[in-house]
Amino acid sequence: MVRKFHNSLIMSGEKQYFKVSKHKDYLYVIKENISVVHPAYRNDPLNMYLLLGTHTALLLDTGCGLYPLKPVVDELIGERNLLVFNTHAHWDHILGNEEFGEVYIHTNEVKLISRPYDMSYLKDSPCEIVKKYEEKNFLIPPARNINILKDGDVFDLGEINVKIIHTPGHSPGSICLLTSTGELFTSDVSYYGDQFLPKRKDFPKVLITLSKLIELCEKQKDLELYPSHRKYPCDKTLLTDLYNGIKNIKNLWDTKKGFDFFYAWQIDDNKFRYYISRM
Ligand SMILES: [Zn+2]
Repeated sequence: MVRKFHNSLIMSGEKQYFKVSKHKDYLYVIKENISVVHPAYRNDPLNMYLLLGTHTALLLDTGCGLYPLKPVVDELIGERNLLVFNTHAHWDHILGNEEFGEVYIHTNEVKLISRPYDMSYLKDSPCEIVKKYEEKNFLIPPARNINILKDGDVFDLGEINVKIIHTPGHSPGSICLLTSTGELFTSDVSYYGDQFLPKRKDFPKVLITLSKLIELCEKQKDLELYPSHRKYPCDKTLLTDLYNGIKNIKNLWDTKKGFDFFYAWQIDDNKFRYYISRM
């Protein structure tokens, strides 16, 4: 009893920070605002998804690592086993990894999450909360064990199967997840918000990935899209909007402005803001 009381006290604090909502019987969304670390990040909220199979739960991403996430997850999954996947190795998706014993990520980004993650570029952030990173000398520890995901891998959660689709472009090891229950988790490959794109010469990779997902939605008409940022669920229009927007960037190239915080070019159209890497 004492332990239970203690846990619910922890929960009340974290629940205020993470916004938890039950979207379906087997699907929870845990939201975290990422703008709390720097106003340049505008893609609030980050959506972490928790799928509940009959015997296994799957957590998709671990967030910013500012407050304990595991107690929140543990209360939702009950007695189920837990699998933890990172959709890719960008900071807002992985900094809670340390709390979990074992994390899966695509083979192309294993190295990035196998060592402490350097957040020192936030040293001059105007946001007070960055002190939480400073306490760790801006080096956020990794998970103890890292496992590899490959395109086509299938995981059985009990009455829900999840298939890994490798979708490079936003980053080399980005993955999307397709469930047997009709959800497509699109990670940062597509969402309605500021887009972080690789160098222009790598746009073809992004476009190939988006075409692949569009094709999948054409085959499976009732798929619902669950992006890792902002609005969910979305439909195929998100993918076609983004595909057309990125194709059109060449026509807007002269409107680009430098955005030094991301070391990127910034271009806006009427649907998206694009940050195009200059590195
Ligand atoms: Zn992100």
